[in-house]
Amino acid sequence: MRALVAGNWKMNGTPASLGELEALKQALAAPACDVLVCPPATLIAQAAWHVKGAFALGGQDCHAEPKGAFTGDLSAEMLRDAGASFVILGHSERRQYHGESNAHVAAKARAAWRAGLKAIICIGESEAQRNAGEAPHICQGQLNESVPPEATSANSVIAYEPVWAIGTGRTPTSDDIAAMHSHIRACLVSRLGAAGEGMLILYGGSVNPGNAAEILGLPEVGGALVGGASLKAADFLKIIAAVKA
Ligand code: PEP
Repeated sequence: MRALVAGNWKMNGTPASLGELEALKQALAAPACDVLVCPPATLIAQAAWHVKGAFALGGQDCHAEPKGAFTGDLSAEMLRDAGASFVILGHSERRQYHGESNAHVAAKARAAWRAGLKAIICIGESEAQRNAGEAPHICQGQLNESVPPEATSANSVIAYEPVWAIGTGRTPTSDDIAAMHSHIRACLVSRLGAAGEGMLILYGGSVNPGNAAEILGLPEVGGALVGGASLKAADFLKIIAAVKA
């Protein structure tokens, strides 16, 4: 499975930021991985026009229903229509600030598939849970409940993002990342069988140009989900370049 480096712009970006996508497009020459940018939903359609398929675009969340009286929400079909081919689901910021449960995330994953989007399903432990030695158990529970049993490597990607590493400049040790990715792989295989063997497992949490090569070289790390360092094309390109062919 080809690695994936995905950028999550979160609530950052205006039409002026499309220049970063142009710069990314111009500089991307036969990357060794697939590349995805998830800008705010307001920019997806304009971004699609600029990017013209040079790399993929995605949403950062979707509603589980295809349409209806859900003020402020967007359906997976709307994201697809705007030019997205992926959607990030269950990001810790959605779980924390919008009360999203594992059941919500699973419903949204089914919605993503219904619309033909690939779901990036995020899991990860808090610092207190890690310190209590509960990280493997917490991640297994999130996987079991957020990833529907119909998930395959063709329709889903897992992103392991320790909550305490997101936006903090702190990362787990390489040994800890490798151990958790190997645990996640074992959980996926035990739950999904062959479908779990090829599913990409991204690492997310303070990935930057300085640590990308080491993290991306670890066993079972199939790529990265990058927040802050994806906002500037120059930094994001360095992370993409860190993927070994
Ligand atoms: C994220 O938002 O998914 C993320 C990993 O952010 P950062 O890279 O800024 O830690």
